[in-house]
Amino acid sequence: MLAASKLVALAPEICEIGIHRGEKNKNKKARSSMSVFTHPEFDGHEQVSFFHCQQTGLKAIIAVHNTNLGPALGGCRMWAYENDEQALRDVLRLSRGMTYKAAITGLPLGGGKSVIIGDSRKAKTPELMQAMGRAVDTFGGRYIIAEDVGTTVDDMTHVRKGTKHVVGIVDGHHGSGDPSPMTALGVYHGIRAVARLRLQKNSLKDVKISIQGLGNVGYNLCKLLSKDGAKLFVTDVQTDRLEMAVKEFGATAVGLNDIYDQAVDIFAPCALGAILNDVNIPRIKATAVAGAANNQLAEPRHGDLLRSRNVLYIPDYVINAGGLISVYYENTAKAANKPFDRSQVVQHVEKIGETIEAIVNKAQQDSIATSLAADRLAEQRFGVKKACKAA
Ligand code: NAD
Repeated sequence: MLAASKLVALAPEICEIGIHRGEKNKNKKARSSMSVFTHPEFDGHEQVSFFHCQQTGLKAIIAVHNTNLGPALGGCRMWAYENDEQALRDVLRLSRGMTYKAAITGLPLGGGKSVIIGDSRKAKTPELMQAMGRAVDTFGGRYIIAEDVGTTVDDMTHVRKGTKHVVGIVDGHHGSGDPSPMTALGVYHGIRAVARLRLQKNSLKDVKISIQGLGNVGYNLCKLLSKDGAKLFVTDVQTDRLEMAVKEFGATAVGLNDIYDQAVDIFAPCALGAILNDVNIPRIKATAVAGAANNQLAEPRHGDLLRSRNVLYIPDYVINAGGLISVYYENTAKAANKPFDRSQVVQHVEKIGETIEAIVNKAQQDSIATSLAADRLAEQRFGVKKACKAA
């Protein structure tokens, strides 16, 4: 099966990897060992596998958190991690997040994710992505790969040479292509729900919204919001994107660090994680935070801090699920050998607004943060205590 290049999958129980901490620690015999089962982010993962391909240089980890609801679907991140420990932490956190995202979105999917260790601008080759495909194939469909940070729709066409368990590709009538427009559409519906709940408005006309990051999601979001007459305040490190938004949407350009201080109704983070922290939260004047960026809360306790300051936080994995919905329908179309039907995706993405209302209601009823309410609802669906299928 792995004829073209030697691919080694280590069983999770033997994945202790020594990490040398550099010359100055040599004499002290400093050696940090990387544990999996006792890792703080392990959270009962069903499977964690490590892959190495000597020929292509592939070093990858695939983590499957939970498959109670269906096969684990999650993107593949390629990143120049400083060490293996960082890569493991990232894949465990991301893969767990996918379980919650699929469950809260009402999809029959589990949670999984993969990481490739390396600089995507220098180390990525078609052969490496094909080897990644063969790694994915060893899961026999229990893990389905898609693109993520550092990988693209194009890369997935090379992955497909090694496995059929890949989505988010441009493929005649089955492929769904770039998921970002659907992610933006989901955020748009989430923001409309927030306007109803917090501002008692059925329209976004004249609602002030700040957007951090005008990338694939942020820019598409601006298009949708501006059509509805929202007043936009935008920032991005790329000044050309900023100028485009000012020109196309009449948006107000704001400094990178000033975005948190804007006197707006809703703040939509669409760039960075961990921005909801002790420093930024006290600066937020918006009545709600509702944006696409992954892992916005620096720590879980920041959900409570937002609540105590009466800022409604819409959990990121709930509002940014549009892309996952899109690739899910691509997968079902492919399995049934039917054409990909975008209208099904749009209908499902529209429901993100209803999910948000249910979360906000639960948070109010239970007097808890929305982040915790979302986790509890998701856990009810995927059943944290169900017997492990993999064992
Ligand atoms: P992207 O890379 O296309 O866009 C990110 C944008 O943020 C870029 O324009 C970048 O210049 C800008 N940026 C970087 N640092 C910044 C800073 N300090 N201040 C302001 N802007 C900054 O990414 P994307 O696909 O648009 O995704 C945006 C976020 O949404 C990411 O956190 C991503 O993980 C998350 N997300 C994306 C999808 C999707 O379908 N693309 C799905 C779910 C979640």
